[in-house]
Amino acid sequence: MKLTPKQKERYSRMLSLHDFSETEMESIAATTVSVVGAGGLGSPALRLLTAIGFGKIRIIDRDVVELSNIQRQTVYHTVDIGMPKAEAAAANLALLNPNVEFEPISASLAEDNARTLLDGSEIIVDGLDSFKTRFAVNRASVSLKIPYVFAGAIEYHSNLSTFIPDKTGCLHCLSGDAQDNTDYTCANVGVTPELLSVVASVQVREAVLLAIGQEPRLANRLMFIDVASLSFDFFDIGRDDACPVCSANATQSLVTQSEVPRVTTLCSGTFNLTPGSPIEIDLDSIAERLGSSYEIEQAKRWLKILGQSGVEVTLMPQANAIVKGVKSEQEALEIYQEILMDLKR
Ligand SMILES: [Zn+2]
Repeated sequence: MKLTPKQKERYSRMLSLHDFSETEMESIAATTVSVVGAGGLGSPALRLLTAIGFGKIRIIDRDVVELSNIQRQTVYHTVDIGMPKAEAAAANLALLNPNVEFEPISASLAEDNARTLLDGSEIIVDGLDSFKTRFAVNRASVSLKIPYVFAGAIEYHSNLSTFIPDKTGCLHCLSGDAQDNTDYTCANVGVTPELLSVVASVQVREAVLLAIGQEPRLANRLMFIDVASLSFDFFDIGRDDACPVCSANATQSLVTQSEVPRVTTLCSGTFNLTPGSPIEIDLDSIAERLGSSYEIEQAKRWLKILGQSGVEVTLMPQANAIVKGVKSEQEALEIYQEILMDLKR
């Protein structure tokens, strides 16, 4: 893909760098990157990836925008509160750079669907806040041979590394079976927004190097950032020859994809519904079919279905949904299935 005169102007400050070529910019513009988690780290990373001009950006996030997000999750505006994050992020970022193609997916990523959700991307950027989900991403990265730019940030500090399948170790080599500490979360101990911008910038720098075929600086290295003392430390790390995920003797097999929709309770007391495998749905015909029984609000990429007693379902392409106004996962699943059954009539 050749750059147009307008693109040359847009990207001129990067093209003016003494060691950066037009061919390298074209490589970036032809690269698909997946950002998993569009929260504190994902937001600044997404803004940079979009501004720099990556070709296609897949945004995977199961959550909805809340008031407490806006202070650091810079991809959202106050009017986005209540919207699915992946959709709101894609809509806002499209205004920043129309050259970029966005693929928002409001799904809950886990062991059984990580490969499906990440397949086709060339770089994975970590914006997650749980080891459980990161391990699912790590396994998919090793299995699909997609480089994984890992980062975790909390309070004033962060760990980062870039894992390249067959070249470096993986997240499991570094952290073994690390467990999530439910008391030590951003909601409990906080996280400072400036840290997130620094970390996301390093992550995007690694993504740029990967996209232009250069060696990322955090391959086989762990970076530790502490903005409280303003220290940046590096440690050499290697590969665990007995790693159950990435070594020649890897034993862990991939989990088969479930056909049952996954229900996840979100912090805001709403629920994310992710179908076992993505289902292509036509929002127009769904709106038409449900129109007689429900009040419907329709936007280009989502459908809001308003039921009785304040129940609200936001349905997105590939049949991912956010359900509000119900009390339990079971109730959320029931209304989701009721709507999907309605579709099939
Ligand atoms: Zn490993």
